Formats: sequence, C-alpha cells, structure tokens
Amino acid sequence: MDKQKKLDAIADEIKKCRTCKKESSGVAVPGEGNPDADIVFLGEAPGKNEAATGRPFIGRSGQLLRRMIQKVGLTESEVYITSPVKYLPDRGTPSKKQIVHGRLHLSKQLAVIDPKIIVLLGKTAVTAMLDRDSAILKEHGSILNDNGRTYIITLHPAAVLRFPKYTHLMEKDFLRVIECR
Ligand code: URA
Repeated sequence: MDKQKKLDAIADEIKKCRTCKKESSGVAVPGEGNPDADIVFLGEAPGKNEAATGRPFIGRSGQLLRRMIQKVGLTESEVYITSPVKYLPDRGTPSKKQIVHGRLHLSKQLAVIDPKIIVLLGKTAVTAMLDRDSAILKEHGSILNDNGRTYIITLHPAAVLRFPKYTHLMEKDFLRVIECR
C-alpha cells in the first residue's frame, strides 16, 4: 500500500474513533500534506475553523504558520501539517488524557511519513512527543535528537498572534529547521 493510502486508512480510523470524540466537537482533523515529507509541523488541537472543515491550520494561526513556512523557503506541498489532538476540545485547550490518546493516532501517522524533522509548535506538541512539560520561551530553538528523529521546539503560532513581539523568535527557529534539513 502506498503512503497516502496508509494515511487515508489512519484518517478513517480517526473519523470513527469514539475516544477522540469525547468532550470534543466538530469533524475530525487528521492532518494534510506530503506523505513523504521530511518535515512535519505539529500543533496542538483543531480550532473552530479546522473543526468545521476538517483541514488543519486554516484559521488565523494557520495563516501565520503557512506564511512562516513559505518565508523560510519551504512549500506547503513538501511538508506535513498536523496536531496530536484530532478534534476540537470542548475546553479549547486539550487535556493530558486527550493528548495521550491523540498520540496513538499521531504515532501511526509518523510511522508512515517517517519524517527527519518534527517541529514542535508549543507546549502540547512537546508533551505529545517528548512526554514532558516545557517552558517554550526558554526552550524555543532547541534541537533534540531521539531515535533517529530531530525535534525542534518553537512557539505555537497562536502565541505569536497574541504577542507579535515573538514573531522574530519563531522565524529564527524556522530558519534552524532549514539548517537541519
Ligand atoms: N491550532 C493547532 O494547533 N492545530 C490546528 O489544526 C489549528 C490550530
């Protein structure tokens, strides 16, 4: 089976997943992009726009993320964009339980894509992949190698929208992504 078909099968599992739907709403947002991507951008959880359409990062945060991807010379069609939590959490911010569950689906997606680099956009992405708490403003720009994968920690674009003075931090981190490629 080719990679896209495998990702489609995982997306179907997500669409049928009862655990994912607990304390959540909207349609499933499995992720989108190149099934052969070297770089995966990992967010938090879908927002209202994403939960209405099934597409990741299409609201204001997503526009910023997509602008930043292009600004550092990448194209959206060469990367993969997703989040550990696949449905809009009722409380907005996902619970630890929702992150731990979403990671089951995410791990399967990552096993198929097998990216070189995973860009961790904020605290939830760090919890999902590294299983620990983080202080993003202190740790952003960090590059970690684990099991043949490179993780780069940066801010979630929603944080940059809230505090535009952090835009250059995110841009600097994204340039490090290009250096690691
Ligand atoms: N924020 C995220 O973390 N993921 C999305 O898909 C949209 C907004």
